[in-house]
Amino acid sequence: MSTLPASSVLLPTYARAPVAFERGEGPWAIAADGQRYLDFGAGIAVNALGHAHPHLVEALTAQAQRIWHTSNLYTMPEGERLARRLCEATFASRVFFTNSGAEANECAIKMARKYHAAKGHPERYRIVTFEGAFHGRTLATIAAGGQQKYIEGFGPKVEGFDQVPFDDEAALTAAIGPETAALMIEPIQGEGGLRAVPVRVLKRLRELCDEHGLLLIFDEIQTGVGRTGKFFAYEHSGVAPDIMSIAKGIGGGFPMGACLATEEAAAGMTLGTHGTTFGGNPLAMAVGNAVLDVVLAPGFLEHVQKTALRLRQSLAQLKDQHPQVIEEIRGEGLMLGLKLKTPNTDFVAQARAAGLLVVAAGDNVVRLLPPLIIGEGEVAEAVARLDKAAGAVEAALARPAAE
Ligand SMILES: *Cc1c(COP(=O)(O)O)cnc(C)c1O
Repeated sequence: MSTLPASSVLLPTYARAPVAFERGEGPWAIAADGQRYLDFGAGIAVNALGHAHPHLVEALTAQAQRIWHTSNLYTMPEGERLARRLCEATFASRVFFTNSGAEANECAIKMARKYHAAKGHPERYRIVTFEGAFHGRTLATIAAGGQQKYIEGFGPKVEGFDQVPFDDEAALTAAIGPETAALMIEPIQGEGGLRAVPVRVLKRLRELCDEHGLLLIFDEIQTGVGRTGKFFAYEHSGVAPDIMSIAKGIGGGFPMGACLATEEAAAGMTLGTHGTTFGGNPLAMAVGNAVLDVVLAPGFLEHVQKTALRLRQSLAQLKDQHPQVIEEIRGEGLMLGLKLKTPNTDFVAQARAAGLLVVAAGDNVVRLLPPLIIGEGEVAEAVARLDKAAGAVEAALARPAAE
């Protein structure tokens, strides 16, 4: 049963579940032993169109037959096309492609600092971030995220990040000073436990940025590309950022990310100020364009909203049936969380035993991040498996503790 290699030479930085997947079909991930799992983790919100989506397979293999990599020393038509499409569908008018979310945030942070430096204010480099945030695992993004457990032991914390509580305007205004360059926030915290920033707070952040000449950075690495039922989560609030990082869903499983910005915010990023060897690679660009073909097709996001409503209603019923286990349903669209009263990691293991993949998050939350292509059948199947998992957790509660 266990597929964990006994003598792995990988860094032991992950507590990996003892299951290895061999292939996938839409919302299903199939293990080496033939066991089928309904994949409501989607590789942590990455496989937005499920596994082996025919349009993505076609785009990737067709590109693989032509040319894999050229570098940013040359013009890349597919990258130009993807960037233009992203701009047409968002607030942005400038794009920089990266390989990951953390790199997209690195670009966002550098861009915000450079914006002020280029205007003659290099002293404005500080960025205000929010408690419970997650922005990645590079040295700058762990400092931005502010979580002690990720920062400790890695030398001096990168300077220039000031963290304030999630919804505390007094602390926020106190943190804004003459050295502040930007505010950076996830519209819905993913790793932090599906905590949605109230629309009134997002509006207030925009006002404060406008008042103080700051840039507003949205980290939509997890919330973007249809996940919440809109192309990007900021559309729910009507508040547009100046800079936005994206990744995860945009590659549908191919590693890629991007930093999007207004022309004004990107003004400091001139020739030679930033770079990447792999970012914007033709394979990634082909897949990114193919993802947009599907996600931006008429009716697709409406389908996501409809499915999400169905899932949310079923989860509310599930919560009523398992009051000892489930405390609250959180999130937006197909980025939903069960805030639990019992340990979330136990629940994740029970769900896996019931054939459902879900992902733990902070604040004792279990995340449901299904591929956006699921329908009512998969919703019903997932809820039946969650019911089974909750039942197993309850049965364990009812048993007197061993010893
Ligand atoms: C996943 C994630 C990141 C980091 O992305 P990587 O590709 O792992 O570097 C940053 N911010 C948010 C909100 C994320 O969900």
